[in-house]
Amino acid sequence: MIADNIQQIIKQLPENVRLIAVSKTKPVEMLREAYDAGQRLFGENKALEMRDKHALLPEDIEWHFIGHLQTNKIKYIAPFVSLIHSIDSLALLQAVNKEAAKHNRVIDCLLQFHIATEETKFGLNLDEARQLLQSPEYQQLQSVRIVGVMGMASNTDDMDQVRREFANLKDIFDTLKQEFFAASDAFRERSMGMSGDYPVAIEEGSTLVRVGSAIFGARQYGVPVND
Ligand SMILES: *Cc1c(COP(=O)(O)O)cnc(C)c1O
Repeated sequence: MIADNIQQIIKQLPENVRLIAVSKTKPVEMLREAYDAGQRLFGENKALEMRDKHALLPEDIEWHFIGHLQTNKIKYIAPFVSLIHSIDSLALLQAVNKEAAKHNRVIDCLLQFHIATEETKFGLNLDEARQLLQSPEYQQLQSVRIVGVMGMASNTDDMDQVRREFANLKDIFDTLKQEFFAASDAFRERSMGMSGDYPVAIEEGSTLVRVGSAIFGARQYGVPVND
């Protein structure tokens, strides 16, 4: 079933869009099933859960961290994480830089933007991102590389609103590209779209869709997870 779900989604993806299988809360056996179906990008939102799954699964998996990241937990994922989608402050970026340096790595990161109407979602606005990118502190960082933007649309059935929010994120990307990253080929990722809205996100320029329940089924919360 997991394999079928992945095939169904992959069929709809343009060539430049990659699928991240969001496996948070799901057991390793289900990730293994996705892996055996050819899936190589996995998304998790808890550092310890990601560390534990990484230890049990093949080395050629790309691990994407998509949740709110606490600075004291970066150390668990710094040795192997492929892309951190959720940078929303200079302090967090500095902390990632410090852990990456310990492993002689450069860790790729996305700036997370608040594009939804809900108050609860984390993220920067454009001016905050500009301030971050202009700061001398940011310019000193050698062990992180910003490769794009991430955002979550409002949790609503109003697909016109969702579309506007994704279009806004694409505008933010274009603005930052022009102002700060014109010379960087690496700055090219737009992480947007989940199970309920990834087709719209693709139409609005997503390059990374983060799909969980449409692959693995609904998540059950209330069960303690290791974080
Ligand atoms: C859980 C999660 C997803 C996947 O959500 P689904 O609706 O299950 O596809 C995507 N992005 C983030 C940041 C998440 O936390």
